[in-house]
Amino acid sequence: MSGILYLCATPIGNLGDMSPRILETLQQADLIAAEDTRNSRKLMTHFDIHTPMTSYHEYNKVEKAAVLIGKLREGQNIALITDAGTPAISDPGEVLVRMCMEAGITVTSLPGPCACITALTLSGLSTRRFCFEAFLPPEKKERGEILEELKTETRTIILYEAPHRLKQTLGELFSALGDRKITLCRELTKRFETIVPTTLSGALALTEEEEPRGEYVLVLEGADRKVLQREEQAEWETMSIPEHMEIYLQQGMDRKEAMKAVAKDRGLGKRDIYKALLEAGEAEDEA
Ligand code: SAM
Repeated sequence: MSGILYLCATPIGNLGDMSPRILETLQQADLIAAEDTRNSRKLMTHFDIHTPMTSYHEYNKVEKAAVLIGKLREGQNIALITDAGTPAISDPGEVLVRMCMEAGITVTSLPGPCACITALTLSGLSTRRFCFEAFLPPEKKERGEILEELKTETRTIILYEAPHRLKQTLGELFSALGDRKITLCRELTKRFETIVPTTLSGALALTEEEEPRGEYVLVLEGADRKVLQREEQAEWETMSIPEHMEIYLQQGMDRKEAMKAVAKDRGLGKRDIYKALLEAGEAEDEA
């Protein structure tokens, strides 16, 4: 019988948030895989846990996963913890989970603290639909592409950021998305927890006043769907029907779907679109 991989969430700043079930699992596991064993050793000492520990981090995540899977196959139970919060959220745990599943190993998650969800609930912004962007990628091209995608994201957006990059990221978000609501969530669950509901321009002004310190989650209001629709309409109103078709074709629609979408946008019938395409010499056999 193979062992089980337990994903164990640990406190993000308040030791009182360690759950009894997780403590029991950490005590009873054969091995704890930790992102930073030195860091986690302090936590284990605090809770009087003496289970052997091994490292599992960004730089050994694939090779070490194979080693851990070997141990799980031998029947050992392994608890995975990260520096803080829920394993597999913005840390290498994701790779181990995938590889265990592929190997047929049972994985279970013991829920607990997670900075993104804690921040979302405190943001005062819509919690009904949200997306998690973690850290924006450092590489310029990919970062620009993600910022471009976020322009039309209507869900609430959650981002992680390090204090020394906060100013730059807020500036880039402001340039790409314009001004909109944001809640800065700092030092969650810690003594100096600070929640600042503001706007992107307000947040930028704050970082000018005082150098950011501590850990941050940014919760950003999604784009307004009505504004997006008006902008789209203003864009296609100046276009010919073939140009309007091209937008949908580039989004991956086939010609029939694109004709339907163009007809709907313009309040016309499909036949009108077909006729206009015929006149432009672009109609095929879609009639
Ligand atoms: N796995 C973690 C979780 O469940 O939230 C996240 C790990 S990620 C490497 C670390 C980032 O999470 C930090 O840079 C910060 O953006 C955010 N974070 C973690 N703890 C936090 C706290 N107490 N207050 C605010 N943000 C925090």
